[in-house]
Amino acid sequence: MSVILREYIIKENFKEVDRLAKQLGLDSTTRVTIIFPNGKVIADTYNDPERMDNHINRIEVQEALSKGTGTSIRYSNTMKVEMMYASYVLTENNKVLAIIRTSVSASTIKETLFHIYLQLIGGVFLLIVLITIISLYISKRISRRLVEMKQQSQRISDGDFSLKFQFNDSDSVEIAEMGRAIENMAEQLLERFRIIELQKEEQDMVFSSMMEGLLVIGHDKRIINMNKSFASLLDINLSRSIGLDVSEVIKIESLLEFIESAFVSNVPIEKDIEILRIRKIFHVYGKPFKPENSNKIGMLLVLNDYTRLKHLERHRKEFVANVSHELKTPITSIKGFVETLTQNALSKEETDKFLTIILRQSNRLNSIIDDLLSLSELERYSETSGLQLENASVRNVLIGAVSICRERAKDMNIDLIMECDEAIYGYLNSHLLEQAVVNLIDNAIKYSEQGTVVHVSAYKISNKVVVQVKDNGIGIGFEHLSRIFERFYRIDKGRSRKMGGTGLGLSIVKHIAEVHGGIAKVESELGKGSTFSISLRAGE
Ligand code: ADP
Repeated sequence: MSVILREYIIKENFKEVDRLAKQLGLDSTTRVTIIFPNGKVIADTYNDPERMDNHINRIEVQEALSKGTGTSIRYSNTMKVEMMYASYVLTENNKVLAIIRTSVSASTIKETLFHIYLQLIGGVFLLIVLITIISLYISKRISRRLVEMKQQSQRISDGDFSLKFQFNDSDSVEIAEMGRAIENMAEQLLERFRIIELQKEEQDMVFSSMMEGLLVIGHDKRIINMNKSFASLLDINLSRSIGLDVSEVIKIESLLEFIESAFVSNVPIEKDIEILRIRKIFHVYGKPFKPENSNKIGMLLVLNDYTRLKHLERHRKEFVANVSHELKTPITSIKGFVETLTQNALSKEETDKFLTIILRQSNRLNSIIDDLLSLSELERYSETSGLQLENASVRNVLIGAVSICRERAKDMNIDLIMECDEAIYGYLNSHLLEQAVVNLIDNAIKYSEQGTVVHVSAYKISNKVVVQVKDNGIGIGFEHLSRIFERFYRIDKGRSRKMGGTGLGLSIVKHIAEVHGGIAKVESELGKGSTFSISLRAGE
């Protein structure tokens, strides 16, 4: 347009210039004014240029002349409204040909702007509605999947670890990853639970199968756990005791006192407690403990049955005292006579008499030591079950034993009768069984009156062979019967010693019967005689 305009101006065809300005004004709401550099108006959209003022002083004209372009908003004297002007210079060979000025009324601009704002607000509103609908749709879909995941997690927390997520193609990457993370977590939880369960089973097994009695008490003195051994040691009902106060379950005052003191002690304590009512001696160990994340003190009680151990200890002490006592008598006697012999000038007769006593006491010492050695050897056999038994004739053993004792019986005027079928065989050690039978016959002779009879016999009953030695001697009072096989147990010590007894004979018999897998028994009545028997496994 500016090319045509430039041409018209150069050719000074101002009428065409004015027509063009008017034409442009009709096509738009913009007023176009063409002004010469001296301020004279040559064309205007709405007015006759001839009648218009010189525009040289207009701000926008001045600005355009000095800078090439100019703008202003001001009241138009021509249009009688507030207008916004914009003008620029039209040049030819660096010479200003004219100033082209466009103007629009401010209200038109405001109106246009208002429309633009209106469209903008409408667009934004439409966009917001659209975004809201899309977000609602997406969030609905996500929240539905999240609810499913929540239900899945709930099932996991209820202990069902087997479930798998169903993934849809429409699931977002985040949802799929989250689902996989939950699946992963469930798998790991399952694995951990398995390990924990296994450990718990192991602990329970150890706890329940321990020989020691174990009791776990909480800080409130209530029973948390108790193993079978503890319940059976104190004869308590295990299933009914858990959760009860310890004093409701344990009725033993001394044990309750121990528990009280263990609770207030900072260190583990232990004690031997004898319970007379049930004839038991317990070793009790109490260890206070603090469960993790708690400052309350609980207690672990370990109970060991020391009854047998204490009895064994008592027996061992008694045995040592008995052995010392048994050895001391002959040794003191020997010592006394040797001193007499060395210190005094004695007649041949007296010397012989003393030497005979010394010899007798030495023999006695020898017998005691032989018997003790036999006993310890037999004990070793029973501990290691190392005795070899063979299928042998019982009759032969009895013949051997009787022949050893025959002389002695004769001295005492006692008739020794043996009865045993040849066919009786047993699993035995001939040497030991013979020693046992000799001991029994020897006792029968020792504790019988002259002129009586001692029967030695053996018979088979089911899969057992019973060897019997029966006398009509002095017999044994009922009160002694249960103790007669104990070491050094003698009813009449004087008589036993006089007869050369050590007090170990029956104890040896008992051990020999045991290493043959049998038992030694006695039946007796005071004044009527005794019957001793040894059982063993029958042979073929
Ligand atoms: P001892 O060496 O004293 O005979 P034993 O162990 O052989 O020791 O016997 C223990 C005690 O049993 C004897 O001291 C005796 O009092 C009693 N006794 C053993 N056998 C008989 C028996 N046949 N008749 C009566 N009393 C017996």
